[in-house]
Amino acid sequence: MTVTPEFSNRLSPTFLRSDFLTEDWLLQAEDICMRCGGQCCTDAHPPLSRSCCQRLMAAGLTPDMVEDVGYKRLKVQENGMCILFEHGRCSIHSVKPETCRAGPFTFDVKGEIIEIYMKHAGICPVVDLLKETPEAFQQQYQLAVKSITHLVSNLTQDEIDAICRMEEPETEKVAEIKKELSA
Ligand code: SF4
Repeated sequence: MTVTPEFSNRLSPTFLRSDFLTEDWLLQAEDICMRCGGQCCTDAHPPLSRSCCQRLMAAGLTPDMVEDVGYKRLKVQENGMCILFEHGRCSIHSVKPETCRAGPFTFDVKGEIIEIYMKHAGICPVVDLLKETPEAFQQQYQLAVKSITHLVSNLTQDEIDAICRMEEPETEKVAEIKKELSA
């Protein structure tokens, strides 16, 4: 299954966050992402909050690109890449799902606590840059918390439970935040 040309052409082809490309570390991060080839989009099934699903549908996502496994998520292509990965990059960068915006941070929910994890550098080569650059870490961490809390607050408890049953090895916990802060 592939993304229709109509869909990808209607969306920004930019790869990382070029709207903020005034800082050196962001230029470095974009360069790392461009050379990575989409490790974070391999076997990726980003969950879709209701608002994200509506946003993507409005932009051209079709129902056959989405599956429900206790929560809605994007399908993968036959080669294992996310259904929206095209020509070596995300075809929907400007409207991509919350967990994609949050990377390389990810999460788990334990009761009223959201645990924030960071993937290992072997999974995402931007991690080394974040560890070496406190400003970069803080900025991406803040964006990740905002994205993750938005996702969690737009899911039912059953959907959160289904997402959190998926193991995410090769991560390290970096913070815990209260779930009510997500509202
Ligand atoms: S939506 Fe975009 S960034 Fe997210 S996994 Fe798919 S291709 Fe990658």
